[in-house]
Amino acid sequence: MARYTEAVCRLCRRENQKLFLKGDRCYSAKCPVVKRATAPGMHAKSRRKASEYGLQLREKQKCKRIYGVLEGQFRKYYEQADRMKGITGDNMLSLLERRLDNVIFRMGIGSSRSQARQLVTHGHFTVNGKNVNIASYSVKAGDVIAVKETKRDNKYFAEIKQMKVGAMPKWLEFNPETLEGKILALPTREDIDITIKEHMIVELYSK
Ligand code: SF4
Repeated sequence: MARYTEAVCRLCRRENQKLFLKGDRCYSAKCPVVKRATAPGMHAKSRRKASEYGLQLREKQKCKRIYGVLEGQFRKYYEQADRMKGITGDNMLSLLERRLDNVIFRMGIGSSRSQARQLVTHGHFTVNGKNVNIASYSVKAGDVIAVKETKRDNKYFAEIKQMKVGAMPKWLEFNPETLEGKILALPTREDIDITIKEHMIVELYSK
């Protein structure tokens, strides 16, 4: 499975925005976006004003990076969203939110989407009682996500059991004691707290 493996803080500095790719560090004073608010590279300060195309491209890059999705797969999300009823940009974000790695992150089981992805691919979860180790697996309303019985005693999940449930999107629920969560509804745009101008991504792809 292809994924981006370079230094991720560079990606946030390039977008001049926190993309929350590194878990706890993102919320600390060590975050490089807080410490150095310039793009990486020696010509960062001399970059010209971006064109409309450049701005659209940046929105797409930001969105891909937040969800840890590469170009080919990202375009497939757009194409699927475009075939659905409703607003294409909203549909696309909803599809991205429904990825199993994102759901595990949103439930607070992983501190970042990349950590959540690793937990999924290492086979720690079931969906409706069946083993699922595909990070891009798309959840549906009513799905029950649980930590596998055989993994429940490991140190990581023992700590999760002690966790206090923080703010969670209203389309999800998670009970740390039982290590089980549920998809209460499909996410809508207002449930998704990321700062993306998704209409610009749609404009870019529909050229
Ligand atoms: Fe981005 Fe987090 Fe690195 Fe800050 S610490 S630059 S938010 S990945």
